[in-house]
Amino acid sequence: MSTATPKSLKALYESEEFHQQYFYDGPLGPDYTPQGTYLRVWAPTAQQVSVNLYRYGTGNFCLGCLPMSRRERGAWTIYLPGDQHGLYYTFSVEVDGARYETGDPYARAAGVNGVRSMIVDLARTNPEGWQQDARPSIPASRRVVWEISVRDFSWDLAGGMGREWRGKYLAFTQTGTTVKGSSPCPTGLAHLRRLGVSHVQLMPVFDFGSVDESRPLRLQYNWGYDPVNFNLPEGSYSTDPYHGEVRINEFKQMVAALHAAGIGVVMDVVYNHTYRTENVFNYTVPYYFFRQNPDGSFSNGSGCGNEFATERPMARRYIIDSVLYWAKEYHIDGFRFDLMGLYDVETINLLREELDKLPGGKDILMYGEPWQGGGSMLRRYEANKNNLQMLSERVGVFCDDTRDAIKGGCFEAREPGYVQGKPGSFWDIGAAVAAWCRSDRISPRAPSQIVSYVSAHDNFTLWDKLMMVRSRRPDFMAEDPVVLAQNRLAAGIYLTCMGMPFMQAGEEFARTKRGRGNSYRSPAPLNQLDWRRACRYRGLVDYYRGLIALRAQFPRLGGADLEAANAVEFFELEPPLVGWTLPAMPGDGARWEALLVFYNPTDQEKWVPLPEGKWQLLCDGVSSSLWRGDSCLREGTSLLAPYSATIFGLRSEG
Ligand code: CA
Repeated sequence: MSTATPKSLKALYESEEFHQQYFYDGPLGPDYTPQGTYLRVWAPTAQQVSVNLYRYGTGNFCLGCLPMSRRERGAWTIYLPGDQHGLYYTFSVEVDGARYETGDPYARAAGVNGVRSMIVDLARTNPEGWQQDARPSIPASRRVVWEISVRDFSWDLAGGMGREWRGKYLAFTQTGTTVKGSSPCPTGLAHLRRLGVSHVQLMPVFDFGSVDESRPLRLQYNWGYDPVNFNLPEGSYSTDPYHGEVRINEFKQMVAALHAAGIGVVMDVVYNHTYRTENVFNYTVPYYFFRQNPDGSFSNGSGCGNEFATERPMARRYIIDSVLYWAKEYHIDGFRFDLMGLYDVETINLLREELDKLPGGKDILMYGEPWQGGGSMLRRYEANKNNLQMLSERVGVFCDDTRDAIKGGCFEAREPGYVQGKPGSFWDIGAAVAAWCRSDRISPRAPSQIVSYVSAHDNFTLWDKLMMVRSRRPDFMAEDPVVLAQNRLAAGIYLTCMGMPFMQAGEEFARTKRGRGNSYRSPAPLNQLDWRRACRYRGLVDYYRGLIALRAQFPRLGGADLEAANAVEFFELEPPLVGWTLPAMPGDGARWEALLVFYNPTDQEKWVPLPEGKWQLLCDGVSSSLWRGDSCLREGTSLLAPYSATIFGLRSEG
């Protein structure tokens, strides 16, 4: 092949001839059996590929280097007879005069820092009972996602989780932990079970590059949005990053423990870019897997130096293979796509179709951020908020409109939102309740496409944001009763919105990062869940718990159909009050015939008229568990507390 330039490669890769000649749908990656292992890599532009074999995942001792054979459509292969479990390997790829040593893009296991790939007998990584582990069956009405970094979950020693599992996958397997005190508060898994969230969303848990696995964790911290190996777990969350099978086993133990608690596991996947432009993809097929500017250089729609070319057929195939692998091998219950606006619509819909084909696959969650991180070279329909009509109705997007309407803009710290009574914002709250299905601003196909939330790992925690609106020089550690009430109101709104609710871990106990928004590499003590707050704010925890359970009692709120959104009836009330009612669908198992909800974002008590009927008070804005008992019935009018969400249910007759 003649000397290629990035620009000539771009023309080559985008040509129909290249696709016709080299699109490969045969097996890729290591294929282990006890009798022998095939290694296969797609490198159509390479002149030579060989495999280097190592006893260990690090160090210089190479056992040997064997040439691989070029087969059809640019795939290279070699067969290594005998049981090769635990053997480490890299490829040496010669392309256009350059020679790169690289890990396998399809590696299933790797040594420390993911540098060398490892052949693994996956059966040997399965914890006891793994064959019986299954994705829990979670109806749409019960879905509430709780987002956490593995590190943050158990870094705080006050959480009472094992010191040796601090910041590790295995901390999720520990049961019965509490914050010590006169009346102990549950932490970790016990806290999750009590809170009642249906899914835990794990911030990046594939192998990422910004934490050095060979150095102590104590002085390092990163969220991990910097992928190195997409198909194997991060090593720094395991108890031994040097032996490739350990992290796999421990990751599976974590999944099994969450499943045993009835909780689904959502992975935050970041296929939109890689940590460095020097990576396993560019070392095997230079430039193919990344979008290019007209001059051939890497475009940067992720804001991280490169962006994955999801529309190039082998790159698209790679993402689909990877997602299916996690779903099948690790029993993953959902995928959250970072910067989903960098994916083309076709890739996302294909992913949905492929997941649907798995047993129970239709219940695997798919949702993402409907935006990009910079100027992208994507020239197809983007999987973003404007193109919801083209996306499957079971692909959701984070709804920044709902988020900002409730609590104010997330970039302008001091900008108020509806919960502070911002004038005019009540229109948006009504739209948010109906998952924007009745608004011109966004046109979802169904409420199931809307993820309703007020806080996530990016930007300020809800508590910090409310504190910053409230005061110019906030004391984040203070217990401010008004902010607490505004917090309850914010939760009372998005947990009664249609669509799927989502929350940042610790929102339920007033999590603070002391006004820091983008804390992706701030010290662990700032990022960690402060479990003492779970005790201190146990009233708020109970409030979230009650609301989450209440929501599940009225399936139509979490329903997928457009009709539900159209069935919401709004009242004419004095602004900025919002009030609405929604009848249950006959036979849907709802505990009440109808729901009646009022939001009062003012500092005054307010009287509101009630529609005809006997209404049971379910939540008065402070207690959200009134519905569990025989709370009083109201007729005619009711008083709303300042900064409150008040919820009534129409008693079923008989
Ligand atoms: Ca890593």
